[in-house]
Amino acid sequence: MELSGFFRNRVGSGGDGEAGREMPAGVITAADPAGRLKVLDDFEQAGIVWIWATDAEGRLIYISESAGDRLGRPVLDVLGHPLIELFETDPDNPDERSDRPLKFQLSARNKLNGLIMRFIAPGDTEGRRTWWLFSGHPKFDKGGKFKGYRGSAKDVTIEYERKLEDSRLAEYDSLTGLANRHRMTRRLDGILGAYKNAKRSCALMMLDLDRFKHVNDSMGHPAGDELLRQVADRLRAIIGDRGEIGRLGGDEFQVILPDLDDRGKLGELAGKVIQIIAQPYPIDGKRAIIGTSVGIAIAPYDGLDKDEMTRASDLALYAAKKGGRGQFRFYSGDLKDEEEERQELLDDLREALTSEQLELHYQPVVRTADNMVVGFEALMRWEHEERGFVSPAVFIPAAEEGNLINALGEWALKTACKAAVAWPKSVRVAVNVSAVQFANPALPEIVTQALAASGLEPGRLELELTESVFMGDSETVDETFKALKELGVRLALDDFGTGYSSLSYLRSAPFDKIKVDKSFVDSCTQKDQNSAKIITAIISLSEALSMETTVEGVEAFDQLELVISKGAKYVQGWIYSKALRLGEIEQRMGSGEFKIEPDGPEVYRADRRSVFRRIGVIHDDHRYEAVMRDLSKTGSKIEGLIGVPEGTGLVLDLGAGQLAVCVVTRSEDAQIAVEFETPLVSDGAGGLVTRHRVSPYALAAAGMPLQTLPQGNYPLHQIAGPPQSKPQFMQVTVGGTGCDPVHFP
Ligand code: C2E
Ligand code: CA
Ligand code: CA
Repeated sequence: MELSGFFRNRVGSGGDGEAGREMPAGVITAADPAGRLKVLDDFEQAGIVWIWATDAEGRLIYISESAGDRLGRPVLDVLGHPLIELFETDPDNPDERSDRPLKFQLSARNKLNGLIMRFIAPGDTEGRRTWWLFSGHPKFDKGGKFKGYRGSAKDVTIEYERKLEDSRLAEYDSLTGLANRHRMTRRLDGILGAYKNAKRSCALMMLDLDRFKHVNDSMGHPAGDELLRQVADRLRAIIGDRGEIGRLGGDEFQVILPDLDDRGKLGELAGKVIQIIAQPYPIDGKRAIIGTSVGIAIAPYDGLDKDEMTRASDLALYAAKKGGRGQFRFYSGDLKDEEEERQELLDDLREALTSEQLELHYQPVVRTADNMVVGFEALMRWEHEERGFVSPAVFIPAAEEGNLINALGEWALKTACKAAVAWPKSVRVAVNVSAVQFANPALPEIVTQALAASGLEPGRLELELTESVFMGDSETVDETFKALKELGVRLALDDFGTGYSSLSYLRSAPFDKIKVDKSFVDSCTQKDQNSAKIITAIISLSEALSMETTVEGVEAFDQLELVISKGAKYVQGWIYSKALRLGEIEQRMGSGEFKIEPDGPEVYRADRRSVFRRIGVIHDDHRYEAVMRDLSKTGSKIEGLIGVPEGTGLVLDLGAGQLAVCVVTRSEDAQIAVEFETPLVSDGAGGLVTRHRVSPYALAAAGMPLQTLPQGNYPLHQIAGPPQSKPQFMQVTVGGTGCDPVHFP
């Protein structure tokens, strides 16, 4: 029966070895082709794995019937066509052509070891993809002639997509869909490595949202999340395919911008980002407003690898945030070791306070009706023996952070009160009081002492406060206001319009005066019509509240005329006078009357900056040292070279790899005026820089080791070898006052 049949079969492939062993019934041996075919058939129909074959030309000559429903067409339709045509390129992702590895392997006649291929059925409008795992062997005949492939394939869509999703999660931020820190670091590393070999540039932008924490705290975390999503959308809209955007965590974003090193374009892009991020966000029927600061570093100039570039862009971001919110900043070598420098500055400042290096200068406030001086604002001046003149805009913020402002402020109050008692009774003195001082409960007492020690009438002392004093606890703020008012001193609201500018402050705080910020004056005669309107509005507002207004920072006649026509009764600005030494004031005051006639340029030129900067001037193969003054986007004035004919082409070495090609337009004694071939661009911090820099690759090619651009000017002539010709111009040194010839050709 069954058993006998079972034993009748034997397994014996080659006839040797186990030949003769009894086999169970139904066993299929190699000698039973029909049986084998049946097994194969069952297997193919199960659809677990498909079998395929190609001819020597790569045309599909066989594929399992069961693959038909995945193919989206009858198997017959694909037979005779190249295998490679089955696999389509994803139109959304042309870079990730999935047929590339297969094509390569087939033409090289390599073994296919589990290639994963993306297959898109034709006519599948939903673009549903399946992923196929491909294996195969090339087949050769006895003579070694290639006969095509024999292989298997399998649908692995479910497993593969799960794997993709896992790695996507590991690479992307699930909240915003942007790349996460991990991916950004890897990308940056990869791009910078490849670009270093290819000598290409790459910019890195770091962004940090301002006031995000406030939104999170006041509107809740879901609102904060929604805000981040909207920020990501806006970034995607601005950056487009120019670069890769990532969220590094919290409210920190990063953008990698390959092949971009033009600081003009980068500045524009950063400006656009700042502007668009600052637009209000509709969230849950409410509005959230945030800002952003941007730091930019550019490889290979500011860093060669990911660590250097990350550090550089972080430092630039830190500087941008410190410079005030909503700004961008390019990395520069000056930003290095900022913290260390700040400490040194504070040490020097502490020393300055005890060793009488500090002085107060006094800038007149003038009544426009009759040009009479009605008061002075005390402004701190510090001249350090090595640092030279340090601007209060630099050391005051440092003193605020470093716990030194109370001591400085107390000194200023005492010194100013002492100076003012000698002035006519009609002349007041104004002293700046920082928000940190205002928050000190001892302030009213310190003011009382300054008044008592000098004998100055309280009504002649004016304290200048900024809107930031309102940041503190409102009860304490109210008490301090009350205490100061009781002393009888006057209070002025400084820099009005630059801060929070809430009108409610004006209603609740007892100010006697509003000072209109210089920034409105700067732009009031330019195209910006709003500034003039704002000045008008502030003046009429303060009149309605019976306060005085002083317009600050008036430099030119066109500005003076405009602000007078808008109703300004008091003006403080260079058109009347800069801050003066006490001795000079006493001298000029003489009998007691002090009148100043306005004097200054007819028209305000916003873009001209007075500078004093040592630069290199390169002509032929010579390099001269000179001093740059008066820099604008289009040109500059240079002192220190005599005998430069008009029309001469020069290259200015502005330091840190910045070379500016220019032409001499005017030449007089030791002073020349030049016009740049390519206008300079903003550095984001009120300064100007060249669009491009000398590439470290070029310097490396000229013999310098490849490194990021060092500070200062480059000894280009050393790289190029000793000069071949005689210098053509005479170089003189320029100090603060005059010129001493030092070098004759
Ligand atoms: P501020 O209180 O707004 O002072 C006015 C600034 O504008 C001064 O700069 C002044 O020199 C400048 N200025 C006045 N008129 C013109 C003009 O027509 N054109 C231009 N370009 N500038 C003009 P300064 O002296 O550099 O002081 C900068 C800031 O430092 C001051 O701004 C003030 O916030 C702070 N500061 C100065 N001295 C003291 C002080 O004793 N205590 C405190 N807490 N802060 C001070
Ligand atoms: Ca002031
Ligand atoms: Ca001011």
